[in-house]
Amino acid sequence: MFCRNCASQLNDKAEVCMSCGLKPLNENKYCQECGAETSDKQEICIKCGCRLQKLNNTSFSIDNNELIYPSEPPKSSATATLLSCFVPGVGQIYLGQTAKGLAWLGGSVLLTTMTAGLAAIPIWIAVMVDANLIGQKLQKGQPVQQWEFF
Ligand SMILES: [Zn+2]
Ligand SMILES: [Zn+2]
Repeated sequence: MFCRNCASQLNDKAEVCMSCGLKPLNENKYCQECGAETSDKQEICIKCGCRLQKLNNTSFSIDNNELIYPSEPPKSSATATLLSCFVPGVGQIYLGQTAKGLAWLGGSVLLTTMTAGLAAIPIWIAVMVDANLIGQKLQKGQPVQQWEFF
């Protein structure tokens, strides 16, 4: 493989070019197969006929499976339960599950309104049990996922 920035020859699996320090497939100056010069908009190398490779670094998706590791000292599951008892989701935010806590908060307000209050009690219980069980896992030193429930 050739570096697409400086055309120096690299190991096929190299992530960074040892000559120029850039990610070899992030640039567009040379063909990665033969080292011939290429232009910005070119998709195929006119010298060797290979498709010019490009790193796709436009995907900045949030990793929903990102783990939350227990803090030192661990956060208390009782505090999390109590917080979510007052405001649904706040206990989850306290434990580090920010997105999930906000979803609980938004979801519970929405569902309670939609059901004219009928869903309030089951949601209230579920959100407390969830905060408690996630809190207990963290207290035991067990990492939890961003969107792990119960
Ligand atoms: Zn290079
Ligand atoms: Zn080529």
